[in-house]
Amino acid sequence: MKKPVNSEKHQQRMSKVKEQIDKKIAQADKEQGVSVLLTGNGKGKSSSAFGMLARSLGYGHNCAVVQFIKGEWECGEELFFSQLPLVSYHAMGAGFTWETQNLEKDKAAAEKAWSLAATLLADPKINFLMLDELTYMFTQGWLDLEKVTQAILERPANMNLVITGRGAPEGLIAACDTVSEVKDIKHAFRNGIKAQRGIEF
Ligand code: ATP
Ligand code: MG
Repeated sequence: MKKPVNSEKHQQRMSKVKEQIDKKIAQADKEQGVSVLLTGNGKGKSSSAFGMLARSLGYGHNCAVVQFIKGEWECGEELFFSQLPLVSYHAMGAGFTWETQNLEKDKAAAEKAWSLAATLLADPKINFLMLDELTYMFTQGWLDLEKVTQAILERPANMNLVITGRGAPEGLIAACDTVSEVKDIKHAFRNGIKAQRGIEF
């Protein structure tokens, strides 16, 4: 049988927890932007990043999005965010040649996307920058990791940065302030359910 909750004890415990949390909040007083890395095989990385973009827009921040892997297909986030005046939206993936495996052509497309990302990363007018599916540039050997981590660390102090993609390399994990791994438990696709508008794309 469950023990009855002693409300006085509960209150004492909760007030101790509150004291500890308040202390931690007071200690986190550095005024600077953060870099967030969302990796792992589960669903929810890019959509979480777009959630933070929406939050930033709520405060009128200047935002930019670079999608490193994005084909010709339509997606809801692009339809919505690209029309907003505060968002500079760049879907750069169209140059990648999955079919032909043309390494030189892929590298050139990656460098072109990176060159734009590097310009945005150095722009002090941008408050929020999202580099969607950046990690694939390293797993495919298309971009130099050190060059990218250096630009991340040297970006303007107040810029918030969100990076997504599976299989993030150690160097990128080390360079970012907040890192989460989304774990795949199950996905409807494996049960044969079609990708859904508004959920998948
Ligand atoms: P989302 O954009 O939905 O947040 P994501 O960014 O975490 O997904 P990606 O690796 O970029 O995931 O894959 C994008 C697409 O693949 C989405 O349509 C997503 O639903 C789907 N997807 C993500 N994880 C899985 C998985 N474990 N199995 C099958 N499909 C997946
Ligand atoms: Mg994604």
